[in-house]
Amino acid sequence: MDEETHRPGTAGTQGIVCALCGTRSGSDSAPPTWIFAVENGSRRYFCDDCSRTHIRAIEGRLDSAWW
Ligand SMILES: [Zn+2]
Repeated sequence: MDEETHRPGTAGTQGIVCALCGTRSGSDSAPPTWIFAVENGSRRYFCDDCSRTHIRAIEGRLDSAWW
């Protein structure tokens, strides 16, 4: 009777969630269409829709707090 406890080695991740809209990838790894940025030492993922919308800001290395 395994409940969905954290699996060893996943560092407590519960799938990948878009930092902007909250969409979940449904898996522990980001889909290839998602992009990934490091802000203040923490990783953020952006879904394909948000990355298209915000690609310029992301490429400009602005923190999402500025968006
Ligand atoms: Zn999104």
